[in-house]
Amino acid sequence: MPSPADTPRNSASSRANGSELIRFDKVTKRFGDVTVLDQLDFSVATGKHVTLIGPSGSGKTTILRLLMTLLTPDEGTITVDGDYLNHQERDGKLVKAGDKHVREVRKKIGMVFQQFNLFPNMKVLRNVTEAPVHVLGMSKDEAEQRGRELIELVGLTEQLDKYPSQLSGGQQQRVAIARALAMRPQVLLLDEVTSALDPELVAGVLDVLRDIAHTTDITMLVVTHEMSFARDISDSVLMFDQGKIVESGSPDKMFSDPEHERTREFLSTVL
Ligand code: ADP
Repeated sequence: MPSPADTPRNSASSRANGSELIRFDKVTKRFGDVTVLDQLDFSVATGKHVTLIGPSGSGKTTILRLLMTLLTPDEGTITVDGDYLNHQERDGKLVKAGDKHVREVRKKIGMVFQQFNLFPNMKVLRNVTEAPVHVLGMSKDEAEQRGRELIELVGLTEQLDKYPSQLSGGQQQRVAIARALAMRPQVLLLDEVTSALDPELVAGVLDVLRDIAHTTDITMLVVTHEMSFARDISDSVLMFDQGKIVESGSPDKMFSDPEHERTREFLSTVL
């Protein structure tokens, strides 16, 4: 099976496993008077799969949107693979980063959203090859070869020549996953990727993601309400409430024996 990030397990490229890929350092985000993230510290090691859980409004999506630079923090710093995301060091001081710097660091990150946002006027293969050719400068041939591999990985070889409107929601979301991986990100962010799908289409998308989680070394940061999926793929789970981490641990511990009353309460509503 092809590897999305070209980092098959046990290869030389997995030696960086365990090093810190993402770091939030005292990150605060406010919308008006409301503090959505409050001096948040956490990190994700290379190759790990971390799931964010917690009630609606607790700040999970804001974290992913900060990483995609769709939002900027009010305070604190975010580092991706050792590079500041919103800042640059100049004369020993941290200053706001220029657009070019932000674009370069953001290339390390891929995201799949609730709504698949495919290009409606492009067939499946072109949806997957468009950004590698135009953003990464990959040759059309290479992008197409890799695009076909990724489309096979998500089980859509038969649909290569179709337009998004000819596909089910689940198939469209699998194209969106292939499209994100085509940019060879170091980390894949998944924001409730099955919540816009009809129930019968959810399992197919989660199976593809389980496969990717189990057969590749790509780092994942996942927001999901699918607790059994979270349990299957996560190395660790962070429980959020009101913009803070109230508890974190292995999925076994978090789902079977949580320590915090708030975690128990939340899980009783979703398990
Ligand atoms: P979660 O993903 O845990 O449901 P979010 O990160 O989406 O939480 O939202 C956290 C809080 O921030 C919520 O109260 C939400 O209403 C608020 N919020 C998110 N985005 C915006 C925005 N662009 N403007 C104002 N408030 C926002």
